[in-house]
Amino acid sequence: MDDPLDGIRRRFSRLYEPIIDVGRGWHSILITLDAELTEIDPTIAYVQIKERYGGLRVYSTRPSEDAWNAVRRAKRRAQTAALATCESCGRAGTMHSRLGWYRTLCGSCAAESDYVPVPR
Ligand SMILES: [Zn+2]
Repeated sequence: MDDPLDGIRRRFSRLYEPIIDVGRGWHSILITLDAELTEIDPTIAYVQIKERYGGLRVYSTRPSEDAWNAVRRAKRRAQTAALATCESCGRAGTMHSRLGWYRTLCGSCAAESDYVPVPR
């Protein structure tokens, strides 16, 4: 079976390991973002894709000058979507924490892993 993330892995810079270090719940966000970025500037290559402090981080090579703002907006949209999506299962999620670690999770995934909601 084709891994839907293979297309994203193929677009990593050759200087970096093509590791997509986020939970399954965010995969569809990445696929949407990748389609947008490909359309904005097909020369963009990924450098790192990971979760940090409960948020989605997508680092890429520098886009062409005229694509800069569109790339920023697309990444911002993906980050915003990730902050409202359980990284584990993809349902609606909010920021949770456990012992200083942060993750965006839904209530049931949080309860399974002893994470508690972070007050806004
Ligand atoms: Zn969940």
